[in-house]
This record gives sequence, structure tokens and C-alpha cells, in this order.
Amino acid sequence: MSKVDPRGRKVKILATLGPASRSPDMVRKLIKAGADAFRVNMSHADHATHAETIATVRAVEAELGKPIAILCDLQGPKLRVGTFKDGRAVIRHSGHFTLDRNPEPGDENRVCLPHPELFGILQKGQRLLIDDGKLRLRVIRADENEILCSAEVGGVISDRKGVNVPDAVVPVPALTEKDRRDLAFSIEHGADFIGLSFVQRPEDVAECRRLMGGHGNLIAKIEKPAAISELEGIIELSDGIMVARGDLGVELLPEEVPPIQKKIVELTRRSGKPVIVATQMLESMIESPAPTRAEVSDVANAVYDGADAVMLSAETAAGQWPEEAVSIMHRIATQVERDSYYRQRVHLAEINPDQTTADALAKACAAIADTVTLTGIVIFTGSGSTARRVARERPSVPMLVLTPSQKTARKAALLWGAHAVYTRDIGSFEEMIAKGKRMALRHGFGTAGSKLVTLAGVPFGTPGATNLLHIVTLKGNELELYKALEDDSNEG
Ligand code: PGA
Ligand code: MN
Repeated sequence: MSKVDPRGRKVKILATLGPASRSPDMVRKLIKAGADAFRVNMSHADHATHAETIATVRAVEAELGKPIAILCDLQGPKLRVGTFKDGRAVIRHSGHFTLDRNPEPGDENRVCLPHPELFGILQKGQRLLIDDGKLRLRVIRADENEILCSAEVGGVISDRKGVNVPDAVVPVPALTEKDRRDLAFSIEHGADFIGLSFVQRPEDVAECRRLMGGHGNLIAKIEKPAAISELEGIIELSDGIMVARGDLGVELLPEEVPPIQKKIVELTRRSGKPVIVATQMLESMIESPAPTRAEVSDVANAVYDGADAVMLSAETAAGQWPEEAVSIMHRIATQVERDSYYRQRVHLAEINPDQTTADALAKACAAIADTVTLTGIVIFTGSGSTARRVARERPSVPMLVLTPSQKTARKAALLWGAHAVYTRDIGSFEEMIAKGKRMALRHGFGTAGSKLVTLAGVPFGTPGATNLLHIVTLKGNELELYKALEDDSNEG
């Protein structure tokens, strides 16, 4: 499969790695097919496996020279059943099924539920939804040791499938003991983003951030009804948001999810932080090489809504067609972004920028791109905050983010329209212009005659000092010079 054009797509693709995709060969294929960032799901596999996966991504990232973000997704207080003798069992429709505290592998009659806190609180008539709601059990009788249920909807249950109890309030902490260990591991292994699952309150985010101690960025996963009423506070304390439709659609009615998805995407976009739409986007591709029409529509609609990233879960982690799933997502996104109607509707009516020069210049960049023909916006940034402000404007041309910070370069992998290059810092105005032009040519952001906007802050290297907007034209007679520089293998 040919390598995709960096300027061909603005929305980013986040692919979950797992047994089907964590080999160096497959990681390389997924990046070439269009993956910008990878999710490591701490709910599955052990630390040794995750360490190997992360090392693989870093090695391929260095090989391909494209900054890649790694999101380590904490399991959170997710309830799961134990394991089965044969890895799976079939629960009969209308039959009985028992959840108990016996750690022995389960069968078609029973399985361990390794969450003592549930045994005291569940009551007759309450529902237990298993495997994203595919199986539905109703409590007949519950005591300290056993929960006897009738299977209203039976089916295949397998090891460690998720359990949701939407009718009960489960007293759970924001981070479990396992999450704390996984968080420490993730930070130690250089995760760019930490996914915090089942956030209920802004305090949960604050607690996780405290434990992160200034390392990495926090993505709050919205998958509990309680989080919906606290959205603003949660967004405020997070570095990004995930619309975690899998659990959200189980905790709520599925038809409640689309309007909430739109609301979360819009609110997060206004804050200028990245928002990811996740789960079941191309679900049928776990087994099939082609998606359903409805799945194609779902991905397209998330792109039309202006999400920063779309995510693949089991499609790439455990499916039979990981490379094809990324490829199809890339094709759908590219098609949407070519639509002139998309350009009109991706602009938010109201984004409430902060009253900073950086925001004013970001707005000006987008306006210039709408007035004259530009081929890109070149942004010199240390922390990446200028890139976020420009991305919030959803400009019509892509952004080339030049940064001396590898962390910032990787973080931009989840930012709409941003293509980062990790490169040495600049010291003077002349150097900035020369480097901006050289990098634009080298990375395919223009040819002779192309106009670009450059955004930077002087004095160079001062955080938060974005105050300079300069328009450059790549001249024909300069091309030779830049071409010669292009051969220089050093990104500086
Ligand atoms: P998960 O989160 O895949 O970790 O459960 C995403 C979701 O619930 O949609
Ligand atoms: Mn979830």
C-alpha cells in the first residue's frame, strides 16, 4: 500500500493496537495506511507486552520520521467478568446464570464477578449488561456471595467481558489500584496521552492529573451519564476528550448517544482541545474486509462534525483486517474533506477565543486562507498552544507545525489539520523565513509560486509570545537553493 499524502487529510486516525497489530510489520503498515496515533489498551495484556508494543511504535516512528502519539488508555473502574474454562461459554436465552465470588474459571452456568462491591448493592429486577450490552441479565436474587440472574438475552460470553449496571449506583473511585499501577507504567514509558475511563466528575480528572505529576496529557473519556451534566468542568481540566460511545451507549439508550456526541464534539472544539470520536466506527470490519454503508456514514458524519480524530478499536486491535480498516477510514475522511459543503459546515459559529494575540493571529490565519490561495500555515511553536489555537479555527489549509519539542510534535498527531516536524529551534527572523520555506518544500506543503502564512513568536523560544504573522511566497529561483538543502538529512 502506498504511503498517504500528509496534506490529504485533516482529521486524524487513532488505531488501537492489540494481538492483530502490534508487530513491527503491522505497525508500519498501519502508519503507511494513515494511522497518526496508537492506543494501547491497559484493559488487556500485561506490562511486558505493553512495553514491547510501545518500543515497537517508537522504533517505527524513528524509521519513518513521522511523529506518532501514543495514548495509554486506563481501564478505569470498569466492571468485568472473570475467565472461562474454554475462554468462552454460551448463556442460554431465558436460562439462569450466576455471578459469584469463586475465582475458578466459569462455564455456561456461572462465572466469577471479581468486584466485591457489587454483591452488596445489586437488587432484584436490576439489569446487568454484558459485552457492550449484547447480553442482558436480570437479577432474580442477590446476596453477599451470589447474584442469580435470568438471561433475557443470552449468547456468547467470553473472558473478561465488560459488565454495566446502569440501574445501580456503584461506589467506585476514579482510579483503581490497577489504574494507578498502569498510570505509573504509562508515564514511565513515555505515553503522550493518558485515557481516563468512566470519568464522572471534574474531581476525577483532577485526581488523575495530580497522579500524572506534569507528565503527559489527559484525555477524559465520556462514557458515564453523570459526566454529561459536568461536561464543561471536565473539558476545562482535561487536555482532550473522547466520546466513548461503547460504554456510553450501554449506560444510556443507544439513541441518546448521537445528540450527545454532537454536543461533546462542539463543546470540546470550542475549548480548542482535541476531541476523539470512538468505538464501533467500522465494527463489521473486525471480520469483513468491507464496511457497511451505515459505518461509512458514521465515520463521515464524525468528520463533518469537525472531530479532531476518529478511532478504531477491535477493528485494528483484534480484527482480521486492521490495515484495510485504517485505509477505509482514510478514504472516507479524504472524500468528506474534498466536499465544498464540508468546508462551510466545519466552521463553528461561535468559538469564544481567549483574548490573546495568539488567538487573534490564529483567526487572522484562517481568514487569510479564505481570502487568498495559500498552501499551508507554518507554525513555529514550543508548547503547541499556537497550533491548537489555529486548529480551533479549522482553517482551509493544513498546518505545518515546526517544534523543537518532541513531546509537542507527538501531541500534534491528534490535532485536526496539524502535521508536526520535530526540528531545531530558530534564532532569528531570517532563519525563520528560510526554515519555514525549506520545511514547506521538503514536506510537500507547496511548490514554486505557493503562498504560505508563517506564525511565530519573537523573541524566539519565549513561551506564549506568538506575535508575528508573515506571508511568504515560494519563488521559482529560490527552489534550487531549497532543493539543495533538501538533501541534507538533518531535519534542522
Ligand atoms: P473502551 O472505551 O474501548 O476502553 O471501553 C471506549 C468506549 O467505551 O467507547
Ligand atoms: Mn469504555
